Amino acid sequence: MSFDLLRYTGHVFVDAGIAVVETQIGKPCTEIDSGSLRLLEEWLLEQYANPPMRAYLSIHFPNSPWCNFNPKIPAERRRANQLTLLRAYEAPLLEPAAACPFCGRTAQFLADKQHIPLLSSAACLVTAPYGRVGTPVCGYCLLAIQFYPLGTIKATGKPLIWWTPNQKLLQRLTSIHFKKLQRIIALRGEKVQSLDWPRSRLLESAKLVVDTIDDKREFCDCIGYHFTNYGSGPDFKQYFLPHQLLDFWWDVKMSSATVREVHAGIEREAWATPKQKKRPLEEDELESMSLRNRYYEFLSEAFMSPDWERRAKLVVRKFFLQTKNISRNSFDLAELFLRRVSGMEKYRLEVIRKAADSIADLVLDHGEKRWLTNLYMKELRSRELMNYLLRCQRRLCDAKRPLEWENVLQLLDVSSADENPLGDWWLVRDLLLMRILERVGQTNAPLVRELEVMEKEEVE
Ligand SMILES: [Zn+2]
Repeated sequence: MSFDLLRYTGHVFVDAGIAVVETQIGKPCTEIDSGSLRLLEEWLLEQYANPPMRAYLSIHFPNSPWCNFNPKIPAERRRANQLTLLRAYEAPLLEPAAACPFCGRTAQFLADKQHIPLLSSAACLVTAPYGRVGTPVCGYCLLAIQFYPLGTIKATGKPLIWWTPNQKLLQRLTSIHFKKLQRIIALRGEKVQSLDWPRSRLLESAKLVVDTIDDKREFCDCIGYHFTNYGSGPDFKQYFLPHQLLDFWWDVKMSSATVREVHAGIEREAWATPKQKKRPLEEDELESMSLRNRYYEFLSEAFMSPDWERRAKLVVRKFFLQTKNISRNSFDLAELFLRRVSGMEKYRLEVIRKAADSIADLVLDHGEKRWLTNLYMKELRSRELMNYLLRCQRRLCDAKRPLEWENVLQLLDVSSADENPLGDWWLVRDLLLMRILERVGQTNAPLVRELEVMEKEEVE
């Protein structure tokens, strides 16, 4: 049997509230009947009576019956005000009738910013003929919204929440925040601890979903909302997470053990190191929940840009190309990323791989390590890269295994060797170097050690 009391609406606060309800009750919202609503109501009242949660609610619903603890208001009246919010679906329809902006049902309640975040205050009139105070909403959407704070974590003092059009995915992402918030309250006791680095918090939860899910069909674009209307005005930020990143992480999960290990190593290295000092274990756990991950921060920053596909290519230079841990280079990993996230053509990547393999053969079969060190030791300019490839080609012609020169020009996006490469030629250099290092790393350990020493001296 299916019910239509609580429903997803496409609006962040209603949807997040329903995702919390589904997490708590362990079944989809279409199975929630009026009896379940009463049980959920009891559970919510219990959660919000907890002192740390009560204090946290003031940045969600300022001055609402959840956090207005004026001692002059008797406890019974406070409870009655809370139940008015939770049972507005039993209230008469508003006169004159108005549609709920979230679901379209007839409204039963006039809400303001103490009931729904980012609305205006109760004193603001809607400027229209017969204007009235507040936003008309139906009782079910109002009820759903009262649950949403349990699907947030507090990051840099403000709630951080997920929204995505896929309901299953939203429920999975919200349940991670739900569990984390419960854990923080259990560890800290007196208050809801604020975590740092909201972008790292969002991407780590998205990664956890990819790692635990069995089916990628749920993946779609996601948005992290970071906001509050506590204080003098609304404060709102949104972080975009394209489905292409989830697809890429899924591909990594399905890849060879080498690709998975290299990616896991890159992720691990990108975490900030916790401060080493003697303190209780719960402090350690709270700090580890708050750490920065440079890889996640960089990706999220790139996705803020309208041309994020181009900006995301820099991940290859900053994280995938490993000049210190040479055995941790994987062209396959970079290829997966560039195809999935940056939309790079397979053909072009194949040409780069073949060119790099031919050059690696000169290093490995003929002992000519200059072809590696010339790429490795300096940041080439675009013209220098062209000259390097011309020299490689001459040598490969001598060795009777030339590159297909037409392809080399294509990979640099030029029509002749006289033209200066523009665009992403730097990425071509990084990919050539990555592939050569990968090949050398597999077969010539002494040379790898020599390069690592050179890198160390360079740093010193
Ligand atoms: Zn509604």
